[in-house]
Amino acid sequence: MINENFLKLSGSYLFTEIARKVNAYKEEHPKADVISLGIGDVTQPLAPAVIEALHKATDEMAIATTFRGYGPERGYDFLREAIVENDFRSRGIDIEADEVFVSDGAKSDTGNFQELLSRDCVVAVTDPVYPVYIDANTMAGRKIIKLPCTAENGFVPELPSKHVDVIYLCYPNNPTGTTLNREQLKVWVDYAIRENALIFYDAAYEAYIQSEDVPHSIYEIPDAKQCAVEFHSYSKTAGFTGIRCGYTIVQKALRLPLNKLWNRRQSTKFNGTSYLAQRAAEAIYTPEGKQQIKATIAYYMENARMMREALTGMGFKVYGGIDAPYLWTQTPDSMTSWEFFDWMLHSAHVVCTPGVGFGAQGEGYVRLTAFGTHENTEKALRRIDSKL
Ligand SMILES: *Cc1c(COP(=O)(O)O)cnc(C)c1O
Repeated sequence: MINENFLKLSGSYLFTEIARKVNAYKEEHPKADVISLGIGDVTQPLAPAVIEALHKATDEMAIATTFRGYGPERGYDFLREAIVENDFRSRGIDIEADEVFVSDGAKSDTGNFQELLSRDCVVAVTDPVYPVYIDANTMAGRKIIKLPCTAENGFVPELPSKHVDVIYLCYPNNPTGTTLNREQLKVWVDYAIRENALIFYDAAYEAYIQSEDVPHSIYEIPDAKQCAVEFHSYSKTAGFTGIRCGYTIVQKALRLPLNKLWNRRQSTKFNGTSYLAQRAAEAIYTPEGKQQIKATIAYYMENARMMREALTGMGFKVYGGIDAPYLWTQTPDSMTSWEFFDWMLHSAHVVCTPGVGFGAQGEGYVRLTAFGTHENTEKALRRIDSKL
């Protein structure tokens, strides 16, 4: 017998359908220069400091005395110490190195962490949402409640009317590109403490934050150490989508012994992130590395700024794009997400991502990403303008 919960998953329809439509259009119009503002992947190469670290680590692997086999289960000390120092202590947050679990990325950990909880837990996610949270909990057979994030509530989810046990929050948000300020995040921390609930905080886009009042970590809210697990990724921070490395903070101050249980789970089912990837991640925290990844993020955020300005000028209602590489754009003339997708593809030869693919509340929106080149982004914007 199979796990029947898998039959409840909705098909991975969104990106397959986009690819199908784009390929069909290209086949019919081989001369059309189609530009994608739909990509959810970074495009700029790795920082030179990272490349240097990768070469050095590779050379170490060639010599018996410096060769590394299986690494420590929570990750190498050199990386966990760099994380504690640079991502937390420098912001006045006290995390111990044994509360850091190095991983192969935030998708695995945001997907897997729910294994530590009872099947009876009620889970809340925002709508629209990064689909991993829903699918992982559906596979486990849990009940899921949706918290609408709309223009009306400023994309700030309202507290659930009934008790929930787990809340997934992702800020800066994928797909809306919006954020929560400290006060808005504190409302959720207070709720979690009051209700004995857990917050799973996905901080994958933390490095894109420009605004002063937007927290980089949920632990900037002091009580959060009792109720929040935080997921980080080097994918968007440093272009590690192909290298694979991230980390998760599981504090010992949590009400449940999750630090111990996660260690047990990881040492059973995960044999660690490669030594090369961990040395590459360490290099991000050197002075050169920091400066280089900052420059790449600034490059993407310049695209975001151009997109915001141009689209707003064309009369679009645009959200996000200030502290995140995503622009959540309302479709014109009450078009559906897919109708506007088709118009963009056929008229402007620009690919976007239909908002409805991220949840029912995404209907009437598309997600545009700032991960392209300046040239393509400018060209795409000019084309949209000329076809309106
Ligand atoms: C890209 C992304 C991640 C990171 O995934 P990795 O597995 O680290 O590449 C996590 N959460 C969200 C919301 C993302 O968009």
